[in-house]
Amino acid sequence: MTALDAAAPVSAHDAWETPERRELRAMVRRFTEREIVPHLEEWEDVGELPRALHRTAGSLGLLALGFPEAAGGDGDHLDTALVTEELILAGGSSGVCAGLFTHGIAAPHIAANGSPELVDRFVRPTLRGELIGSLGITEPGTGSDVAGITTRAVRDGDDYVVTGAKTFITSGTRADYVTTAVRTGGPGHRGVSLLVVETDRPGVARTRLRKMGWHCSDTATISYDEVRVPAANLVGAEGSGFRQIMERFASERLSLAVQAYATAQRCVELTVAWARQRETFGAPLSSRQVVRHRIAQMARHATVARTYVRDVLVRYEAGADVVTELAMAKNAAVEACDWVVDQAVQLHGGAGYLHGVEVERHYRDARILGIGGGTNEIMDEVIAGRLGLDGS
Ligand SMILES: Cc1cc2nc3c(=O)[nH]c(=O)nc-3n(C[C@H](O)[C@H](O)[C@H](O)COP(=O)(O)OP(=O)(O)OC[C@H]3O[C@@H](n4cnc5c(N)ncnc54)[C@H](O)[C@@H]3O)c2cc1C
Repeated sequence: MTALDAAAPVSAHDAWETPERRELRAMVRRFTEREIVPHLEEWEDVGELPRALHRTAGSLGLLALGFPEAAGGDGDHLDTALVTEELILAGGSSGVCAGLFTHGIAAPHIAANGSPELVDRFVRPTLRGELIGSLGITEPGTGSDVAGITTRAVRDGDDYVVTGAKTFITSGTRADYVTTAVRTGGPGHRGVSLLVVETDRPGVARTRLRKMGWHCSDTATISYDEVRVPAANLVGAEGSGFRQIMERFASERLSLAVQAYATAQRCVELTVAWARQRETFGAPLSSRQVVRHRIAQMARHATVARTYVRDVLVRYEAGADVVTELAMAKNAAVEACDWVVDQAVQLHGGAGYLHGVEVERHYRDARILGIGGGTNEIMDEVIAGRLGLDGS
């Protein structure tokens, strides 16, 4: 066991090391090694994950974690973090997490605020891996400024008629439904609502987007041309969409922070193995002090990020107000990850630049972590606001 080992016990009461969580970690490692690693390069080339993977993950109970029992869920956010961690440490990737666990951003609003009928139609089958959901907030004209969305939903009898477009939508080409932020009222955040839009409705069109990384996670632009959606698909009350989105951002940000430190940790492990076996000038790279120190620094960044994010996660799960710390945790983990993946590629030399070499994929995949779920700059805005530094 090394100091980097995520399973290293800290105390007898360490929330991460209960017998159940050790079992969960072992199950995720087996799942990743059998069901993901042998196929990952193929999925990267194809540009999406197979639906069968969702069903397998659902049958193992992995998709239910972090959702309320009343909606078919199980476990808590520490469990979902642990699954994300282990999936990446066992040879998966943040791209797999994005595509396989999109329901973690698409379905929680429905589970928490949707009618029992919506929960039955969308949440339960999603947690079983039978349906795929997406979250549609970002538009061609607005991203960080969520209150600025312009996709309109106009009430007409028992329906809404939706017109507009969403872009950069994760799992958007495969999704059966999109939990869509729409404007039902006037300008600003009070006019935003959440509406579940099935993607087979007339007027919905989707275009696949190509990206720098996360190749196995499909991404789409989705346009809505006078799409009729039953008013019963509204999640919570009209005008409550912005509040719901903000509440759920917390778990998305934590998930991205976990992906960041786990990717960093995986890259440390890959670089240690590489430095031991790669010889230059008649000696292994690992014998050079500059290389040993560089890897030591990589390990420090990964470990410090993991420790802080996990600490914030435990306090979040206990119900503490961690809005500021959560923004700090995301930025700290992303900064650590960005530096570590860059060093991992550098220490792999030319091999680190080659398609099919794992650190190259992590290097590309990592770049989105400081953009999605609230950018680094927006996280700094949150922190500055909490410090009493109001902008114009
Ligand atoms: C691969 C991928 C997957 C995604 N998945 C989804 C998804 O499933 N659903 C979804 O709804 N969205 C998704 N997104 C969108 C993502 O959430 C947005 O890209 C992100 O919120 C930033 O919005 P934007 O791209 O419009 O950038 P902008 O908001 O235009 O920002 C551009 C730059 O300006 C900075 N900036 C903006 N405002 C300020 C300010 N006030 N002060 C200082 N700097 C500022 C930003 O930090 C950024 O650096 C995804 C994006 C990608 C690339």
